[in-house]
Amino acid sequence: MTGIRVTIWNEFRHEQRDEAVRAVYPDGIHAALAKPLSEAGMQVRSATLDEPDHGLNEAVLNDTDVLVWWGHVAHDEVQDAVVDRVIRRVHEGMGLVVLHSGHFSKVFQRLMGTSCNLRWREEDEKERLFVVDPSHPIAEGLPPYFELPNEETYGEHFDIPVPDEIVLLSWFSGGDVFRSGVTFRRGRGKIFYFRPGHETYPTYHDANVQRVLVNACRWAAPTNGPVPVYGHAPSLEARG
Ligand code: ZN
Repeated sequence: MTGIRVTIWNEFRHEQRDEAVRAVYPDGIHAALAKPLSEAGMQVRSATLDEPDHGLNEAVLNDTDVLVWWGHVAHDEVQDAVVDRVIRRVHEGMGLVVLHSGHFSKVFQRLMGTSCNLRWREEDEKERLFVVDPSHPIAEGLPPYFELPNEETYGEHFDIPVPDEIVLLSWFSGGDVFRSGVTFRRGRGKIFYFRPGHETYPTYHDANVQRVLVNACRWAAPTNGPVPVYGHAPSLEARG
């Protein structure tokens, strides 16, 4: 499948302020995320917090099949009007891929309806991600498990609604486990939350992580299903 229109939204603050992050992502996290998606034939553009409308005006969102979201230190700066617009598009069928610290974004919290809180620490632990739903499209081409040598640790409990599907489950060398690849549907839209991607680690340069990102955008892209019509409805059967 080609031609999926992907918009990558990146807060883009760490890369500008922190040399250690810039060393890992010199062109921004959005550029690293864009690479495998472009190589897979998708039409990729990026949008960042400091652009007008955070780069997510009506025209951009209407031209987006899948929105990828990376945010961390500036969730509160995202305007509610833009959040409303994103959520409306998800309900209409736009896919949403929320990454790592995006668990605390306004968009994800509102779509989940829970705190989305979790346990965390930054201690360079190893993360081992197990594919627990091998037939899922997001698992296509992955090995039974893969490892990231150093990552931030997230641990359960992760305060999300019970997911529709759990595709990936993480174990960390400090002993925690975490539902690290989970799916939800809201309205006509498909949502995938994917845990890895702390800004100081080269996670988005990892081939297996890139495979998950490509698969997730393909999975979350809208399909051509019927558009439901709600409200008062006349009988579908003739009455004699
Ligand atoms: Zn992090």
